[in-house]
Amino acid sequence: MIPSLLPTYNRAPLSFVSGQGSWLTEADGSRYLDLGAGIAVNALGHAHPAMVQAITNQAQKLWHVSNLYQVPGQQALADKLVENSFADTVFFTNSGTEACELAVKMARRHWHAKGMDEKTTVIGFEGSFHGRSSAGIAAAGGAKLTDGFGPLLPGFRHVPFGDHEALKAAIDDTVGAIIIEPVQGEGGIRPVPDQCLKGLRDLCDDRGILLIFDEVQCGMGRTGRLFAHEWAGVEPDIMMVAKGIGGGFPLGALLATENAASAMTAGSHGTTYGGNPLAMAVGNAVFDIVADPGFLAEVGRKSGLLRQKLEGLVAAHPDVFEEVRGAGLMLGLKCKCPNTDVIAAGYAQHVLTVPAADNVIRLLPALTLTDDDIAEALTRLDAAAAGLASNAA
Ligand SMILES: *Cc1c(COP(=O)(O)O)cnc(C)c1O
Repeated sequence: MIPSLLPTYNRAPLSFVSGQGSWLTEADGSRYLDLGAGIAVNALGHAHPAMVQAITNQAQKLWHVSNLYQVPGQQALADKLVENSFADTVFFTNSGTEACELAVKMARRHWHAKGMDEKTTVIGFEGSFHGRSSAGIAAAGGAKLTDGFGPLLPGFRHVPFGDHEALKAAIDDTVGAIIIEPVQGEGGIRPVPDQCLKGLRDLCDDRGILLIFDEVQCGMGRTGRLFAHEWAGVEPDIMMVAKGIGGGFPLGALLATENAASAMTAGSHGTTYGGNPLAMAVGNAVFDIVADPGFLAEVGRKSGLLRQKLEGLVAAHPDVFEEVRGAGLMLGLKCKCPNTDVIAAGYAQHVLTVPAADNVIRLLPALTLTDDDIAEALTRLDAAAAGLASNAA
């Protein structure tokens, strides 16, 4: 019999009732160090006082009015995002998937308005992830996402990650956009080298193609810059943001240049919930903390410390781990035994990590992780790895 909860997840037998910073607590009081942060969502950790205060104050005043009216919090957060990024304009959604939908719609309508209706094709990269909607799974293209869900949304093409020749060969006059994660998340924490992002920008400029960056996972301070692409010194035309931007409240955003967005006129897109006053209260509170240069510098310092210790972990357990990869506090450990075994061994040591493709475990901790948390993380991961190694022997 099908469970009352649609069984699309294999959930761990863990159930948390409260959280504080990087720690989660079960009903019986047992505590877990959370290095997954709700899959890169809890940017400020659990129960951050600024977020608690923002949502509590707003909840007593006004939750939702719809986008038929002015929402001052939207204007404020859009202004901040524009001031701190390549973008000229912002649309708020409830999720990364919805931002992906708008990215694809915006790109197609851009070319339509220019009288170039043939430029509907979007090129994506193998191993990518852009959400679970029809456009999201078509953009990513992987069999695990698309199997059984055909007919898929037409107009998408895929090339292997890092294959420059295949990318050039995939471009013709129908290509209107290229979508890429500057650091692949679900695909196994695979950063795109700065040089490649630069080359991609040049290619898009040469061939008249809109460049879409999916920073749903790697954006909002996770790499130590506000947005991951800043390291490469290139800018997209359109960018998807979500996860960390709401710190745990469902929030996403689509950022774009004036040129890319120029065809999106009144009535061309909408959302009932997106950017409601409750979401905006939290979004503004998170942004004001994360966008602060001092906060981002701390993310950089702590990620250096964590990475250095993880290199030591890999060296100490060569039969369990192969390498550390990633950027900032978006780190992956490539495993030699099944990544699910490593994650389960972590559960036994009360430390939470997240699986990814390519047999990787992801560390996506709260950006507010402390040095003590880092020390604790290493103690627990080391014990987990030691248990696995002795099992194997
Ligand atoms: C999580 C994710 C999405 C989808 O976001 P949702 O909020 O789950 O809809 C899209 N792209 C990337 C890179 C993601 O990591």
